[in-house]
This record gives sequence, structure tokens and C-alpha cells, in this order.
Amino acid sequence: MKVIIVDVYNWRPMMLGHIVEDEWEIGMEWPNIKILRQEIKDYCIKNRFVGRMVVNESYRILAICEASGCPWRAYWRKKKSDGFTMRLSTFNNEHRCAADTDHKNRMADAVWVATVMLEHMKVHHKTCTPQNIIDDIRQKQHVAISYWTAWSARIRCLQQIHGDFVESYKLVPVLCDQVNPKCCFCVYILEKAKEWDINGLVPAVVKKIEKMIEDIPNWDLEASNSSLYCIRDVKSDYRYTVNIVDQECSCRRWQLSGIVCVHAVVILYKMRADWREYCSSYFWVSTYRMAYKGHIKPMEDPRDWPKPVSYPKLFFIDTGVELLN
Ligand SMILES: [Zn+2]
Ligand SMILES: [Zn+2]
Repeated sequence: MKVIIVDVYNWRPMMLGHIVEDEWEIGMEWPNIKILRQEIKDYCIKNRFVGRMVVNESYRILAICEASGCPWRAYWRKKKSDGFTMRLSTFNNEHRCAADTDHKNRMADAVWVATVMLEHMKVHHKTCTPQNIIDDIRQKQHVAISYWTAWSARIRCLQQIHGDFVESYKLVPVLCDQVNPKCCFCVYILEKAKEWDINGLVPAVVKKIEKMIEDIPNWDLEASNSSLYCIRDVKSDYRYTVNIVDQECSCRRWQLSGIVCVHAVVILYKMRADWREYCSSYFWVSTYRMAYKGHIKPMEDPRDWPKPVSYPKLFFIDTGVELLN
């Protein structure tokens, strides 16, 4: 643990007396690039500047301070001897920029907050609210995050704790209730869902299927009997077995995700099948609306809804709500 000595060039208004841990030095090593990338983020947030990896390759990383004219930079190279270790070989730890006085840092996004909070959430996920997360992050990481970043990070943690997509998907309305009795997010999603075709699949799944349709020329339909098909990858010659009746493919994606895989699409496209019949009802617009409706009390006027700074970007994306983070 070191205290930063503030000199004229290094002067950053709110950094005075701020204790910075894990100060870097030339020659320091990180076990692999994944850990390094995470630590760069931690370091920048802790030191209250926005860093950017201008070179981000499997064997080297160059990070700079994003503020214009600020000379701070760090450069790592992978050690040839083992092919994993990343070594800090150039480091200029001088800032001429000023730290954000309101303690905000856009590097502290939901993904980062979720990583920081995951261990805590594993124990306290039943009681930990977004406000608790905001307080915790402010106290321990000295950075201010929005309610929606905290909210989104909390769901990310829950997703990791509870596992698969469908389970988390079922949890959402319940979570919304816990988070906010008015649940503006549910209302928002429901409003969005009104624009969707009630007989169809949620837009993100439609989009996914459209992409797979474009990929059809890369696949060959080989032998088939009434329900069993063999699909061959034209490039690699690899084969998959698809059972249309049982809705299974040897790639396992179909049965695991509930969304048709590209191999099934090759067959179903020729059959002019109704995609909905071959995707889990979780992805039907009708189910989606039902799931949210039960949890929302009507509000008088949309203008009265609480206005979040930014909507969390999560698996909602996967169900077709276009949200910005
Ligand atoms: Zn700087
Ligand atoms: Zn498949």
C-alpha cells in the first residue's frame, strides 16, 4: 500500500490523501492476459481516470489515459518463455488530467460492478438491493454508480448464481417487484412488447433465425427419414444429426436454449415451418407479455414513471428489447 505523492504535474483535485493500492512498477508480472485486462479496469477506476486499451492484442496491451494531452501510459508484452505471463515493460505514471470531482467513472459499468460484487452476492443475493450495491461500491471502490448500473449488475450476478437463461428469465418479474414496487422497467418492457406481433416470437429470436437462414448455403442436407436428418458442414465436412420431432440436435444448442439451431433451420426452412412451433414458449411474445402483466399495477400517466439514467443491458436484449446501457 502506497500513498500517492501529489506533485504539480500529478495534481488531481480529489486524489489528495487518497490511498492507492497495487501501485504498478516496471517489471511487474500478471499471470495471464485475462487477469491483466480485469486489473487494468480495476486500477483505472481505483485511480479515478478513464483508461483505454489502444492496443489490445493477445500478446501485448497498450493502455493510455483517455484525457486529451495526458501522458499516462502502460505497455505490457507477453513473455516468450512461457506464453502466458504479461510483463509491464513501459510505464509512465504521470497524469496531467483532473479526476472527475463527482466520483463517476464510466469504466465502472454493470459488467465491472457485477465482477466486484459477485462473491458478496453469492451470500447475500436474497437481501442485497441495488441501493446496497451503490453504497458498497462507493464505500469500497470510491466510485459513484447509477441505480440502473447497480440494478443491472445485480441481475448479472443472479444470472451467474442461478445459471441458465430460462431460469433468470422466469425470475425477472419477481426481481422487478423487489426492486421497485412501481417497476418502471416492467412497464417499459411491456410497452415495448405492445409493438411486437402477438402471434410471433420475440424480435431478438426472429433476428437470430434470420441470421441462421443467411447461413444455410454453408450446410448440406444429406440423408433423411421422416424425422431424422443429417446436416453436413460444407467447409469442415463435420456432421450433425437433427431430430425434428423430438426437437433435438447433436450440437445440443436447440435442446439447451429452446431456440432452433442453424442445423434445424436448414431443414425447417425447406419445410416452411412455423418457427414458433420449434422454439420454447418462453420466446413467444404472448408468453412474454403474460409474464410481465401479472406483476405490474397500472400507472396513471407514462410521464409519471421514474426516469432511469440508462436502461440495463442484459438478457432483455436476447428477448428483443433494444436497450442502451
Ligand atoms: Zn490522465
Ligand atoms: Zn444443431
